[in-house]
Amino acid sequence: MSEAFPTQSQVVIVGGGIIGCSIAYHLAKLGRKDVVILERGSLTCGTTWHAAGLVMQLRATHTMTELCRYGVRLFAALKDETGQDTGFKQNGSLPIARTPERLAEIARITSLGKVFDVEAHMLSPAEIKSHFPLLDEGKLVGGACIPGDGQTTSIDTTMALARGARQGGVRIIENACATGFETANGAVTAVITDRGTIKCETLVNCAGIWARKIGRMAGVNVPLYAAEHMYVTAEVDASIPADLPILRDTDGYVYVKEDAGKLLIGAFEPNAKPLPLSSLPEKFEFGELQEDWDQFELPMTRAIEMIPMLENAGIRHFMNGPESFTPDNRFIVGEAPELRNYYVAAGFNSQGILSAAGVGRVLAEWIVEGQATMDLSEIDIARFHHFQINRRYLHDRTSESLGLLYAMHWPHRQFETARPVRETPLHNRLAGYNACFGEAAGWERANWYAPEGVEPKYEYSYQRQNWFDYVGEEHKAVRQRVGMFDLSSFGKTVIQGRDAESQLQSICAADMAVPVGRVTYTQFLNQRGGIEADLTVTRLAEDKFMVVTAAASQGRDYNWIRRHLDDNAFVTMEDITSAYGVLSVMGPNSRQLLSRLSDTDFSNQSFPFGTCQEIEIGYARAYALRITYVGELGWELYLPTEFTGPIFDLLMAEGADLGLRLAGYHALDSLRSEKGYRHWGHDISPADTPLEAGLGFAVSLKKNSDFIGRKALERQKEIGLKRRLVHFLMDHADPILLHDEPVFRNGELVGMTTSGSFGYSLGRSVGMGYINMPEGADKAWFEEASYDIELSGERFAARASVRPFFDPANERVKCQAI
Ligand SMILES: Cc1cc2nc3c(=O)[nH]c(=O)nc-3n(C[C@H](O)[C@H](O)[C@H](O)COP(=O)(O)OP(=O)(O)OC[C@H]3O[C@@H](n4cnc5c(N)ncnc54)[C@H](O)[C@@H]3O)c2cc1C
Repeated sequence: MSEAFPTQSQVVIVGGGIIGCSIAYHLAKLGRKDVVILERGSLTCGTTWHAAGLVMQLRATHTMTELCRYGVRLFAALKDETGQDTGFKQNGSLPIARTPERLAEIARITSLGKVFDVEAHMLSPAEIKSHFPLLDEGKLVGGACIPGDGQTTSIDTTMALARGARQGGVRIIENACATGFETANGAVTAVITDRGTIKCETLVNCAGIWARKIGRMAGVNVPLYAAEHMYVTAEVDASIPADLPILRDTDGYVYVKEDAGKLLIGAFEPNAKPLPLSSLPEKFEFGELQEDWDQFELPMTRAIEMIPMLENAGIRHFMNGPESFTPDNRFIVGEAPELRNYYVAAGFNSQGILSAAGVGRVLAEWIVEGQATMDLSEIDIARFHHFQINRRYLHDRTSESLGLLYAMHWPHRQFETARPVRETPLHNRLAGYNACFGEAAGWERANWYAPEGVEPKYEYSYQRQNWFDYVGEEHKAVRQRVGMFDLSSFGKTVIQGRDAESQLQSICAADMAVPVGRVTYTQFLNQRGGIEADLTVTRLAEDKFMVVTAAASQGRDYNWIRRHLDDNAFVTMEDITSAYGVLSVMGPNSRQLLSRLSDTDFSNQSFPFGTCQEIEIGYARAYALRITYVGELGWELYLPTEFTGPIFDLLMAEGADLGLRLAGYHALDSLRSEKGYRHWGHDISPADTPLEAGLGFAVSLKKNSDFIGRKALERQKEIGLKRRLVHFLMDHADPILLHDEPVFRNGELVGMTTSGSFGYSLGRSVGMGYINMPEGADKAWFEEASYDIELSGERFAARASVRPFFDPANERVKCQAI
């Protein structure tokens, strides 16, 4: 007798692709057995069955590499554990380069392997040919070999995960379609299906390209969009060895792998074909899209260039399937900000097979523990902004997203599609000053200014880019005279009500019981003491605080506060980002400049560092905050949006004889790097505590109230640190530090950089990074040693310091007396 359709289950997973099956498998491993997978067709019938099954490990970040490395280990073990063959083989991969620039990029990634513990070696063209005899090595300048990579059969691997899940007690129900959800008190309570309703405590949306539609049914935004994704299988004359490594010719937009005695040629073409969901039939099971040779021509031509025997090879099959892509090319994983206990794992940007094991494990842990167990901020669904669900935006961005996996990952590379989305009130003025705009969270922001007669356009490279000298001038203006930044994209939130102080006390690590007019630099921490957000909070009134965060994390930080307010707290939250423009006036002449336009006394005595006053400036009223992210005397002016332009014009006019210069985000980054100001997402993350990050000064363990993460910090203080963030200064001017470069102390690998930039005042690249330390290591241990930092396989000498190299005593920020 068949089992009755369930009416209740602790966890319900919608979608029986590799992701849904992996999450179920890992939930069972963690002891959650009351789990149901609902699949409207048969397991794997969505996108999973199409996959070419490449399993790579070395990704651009530590988190992504961790997820993929685990995948290799699990896929290798699944057959023995479950009895189901997976087709997994570790035949290695060969990323190859046709240009020196690509070779430099491959060398960078290969260096990263050292830090992430993934074996990788650089190879000459002849060595590559010896591994992959079919190619024309004359087309190559070099490449690398990653022996631990491999390939798997996506259907069999999914079936093995499903079998493992079943063995752990999970129930898999095919031909059951989720059609809606029930919610109560901001949480999901049931899933409605075409066969009945199932009450649940936790819902996981793993519906692949349909996840956006399924999200909508519950009011959850899942910003992904489908694109056509293609490969062909070709007959070739030569007998192809089964252990042929996977060739990744990113310059040619193609990968080539052995597939049951044939060659499979897959494409990541630069201009993809977005696919509206409405163009697919309602029932799209084991479906294929139409062949499109026009679209496939470019990658196929490149494949023939590299493997000449393909020229005359017959094509056995043209596979075209839909895959989902996201606006920033990163996955969508985690608990939905809009609805408690509603989790999403979707938007895999053609990496769903290689990351399925890792994502399954971390999401299962998140569900069981109630919080992420490692730093997942880069793939956390909470990072998205409300506008990113816009259909046209997603459609247009998707044409670029697919190709990004194989595009050059230039430093400072900007998205080209779906722009502009948001402009600050100064946009046209800045364009008039020849700004080169970059994009962050949809905002068009001036990254640098080109001199008259120079086109404000990026010319990317791994060396000094075309803006290098112009940014140097902006940097120097801020250090020596005065510079102005448009920081209007800052996220701004007002928290108001009689419980505002007590609520912020429990969310912020710093003491929030401060006088009106105080600006407090603080962090939000998770229960492990990891840094979830880095921000300032300004007390505008007894019961009113303004929280200011980076544009990129505004949605996430807003949500963090909302989620951590007590249900009964007497407090309101309002996003006032669009209501205010922000002019940041920084540099030794900033005081003089502002004094020309305002009667406010800007002296140290009347306007000390870390305070805010409501001032009159020109014909406007503004909040002026005396703080800095560049390490100079200066003020941030928060002006109601419509006043921002006129005040900008006044400042520009009055500042001319004081040497005022407009400065962009690249100058900001250079200035803050020299001064050692941390950047959330690079130098600090949910995996780093303030004590490790050298931000203990911003934490108040003295305050009487408890705060999230306090216990973890107290424990860490007792036990002692195992790693710490330090500052690096290169010995020579040439090497350009970026991030994620291996760091060697006295020849031994001890950590990696988290961010780097050229410090124009110091004349060399500066950076930060964490290094592992022995118990009781003191300042001398860190500083009295020789350091090397590896860039694209070459080591360069550097110095390390626990204090920043620029103005370590903070004299410029605080002691500019008049
Ligand atoms: C041509 C091609 C090649 C690829 N090659 C690779 C590769 O080499 N390596 C790699 O890592 N990735 C590759 N991918 C990407 C990979 O296949 C996907 O990222 C992955 O399969 C996504 O898995 P999923 O479980 O999220 O989605 P899916 O497999 O699509 O699963 C979602 C499931 O949800 C079900 N569903 C939808 N709506 C409902 C509903 N209302 N109720 C119940 N069930 C529902 C669907 O039927 C579907 O089975 C490739 C993709 C394509 C198209």
